Amino acid sequence: MDCIFCKIIKGDIPSYTVYENEHVKCYLDINPNNVGHTLVIPKKHITDAIEMDSETIVHINNALKEVVSILDKTFKPDGYKFAVNYGICQEVKHYHLHIVPKYKNEPLISDIKEVYEKIIASKE
Ligand code: AMP
Ligand code: ZN
Repeated sequence: MDCIFCKIIKGDIPSYTVYENEHVKCYLDINPNNVGHTLVIPKKHITDAIEMDSETIVHINNALKEVVSILDKTFKPDGYKFAVNYGICQEVKHYHLHIVPKYKNEPLISDIKEVYEKIIASKE
């Protein structure tokens, strides 16, 4: 299947992985709205929120908590926006949950590689 996010799961396209388990992969959005903007996707190809099943959404929500914990530790944002686009609003047709940290004072980092390195360093 010609799906860009399935290619990320297979490792054919690189990603800055924040968290991963057998059910989900979470990686930095390459065109972030904010520092730490992360996508949570199921490892099985599910097109969108309407196709999502009740078992997989539990894994998505568990991963959301893991990612929030990692971002809280790394960047201490003041809140988050969690968003799922659909229809003409959804560019990539593989379900993804946007985790967008919100800051009163956003950290001064524009390079995604630097964002990733800070996340890795905070895990050590
Ligand atoms: P949406 O409009 O919800 O489908 O958003 C798709 C998101 O995927 C956008 O925020 C893109 O920046 C992001 N995106 C597209 N390709 C990649 C990629 N290779 N790695 C990480 N994020 C990506
Ligand atoms: Zn896919």
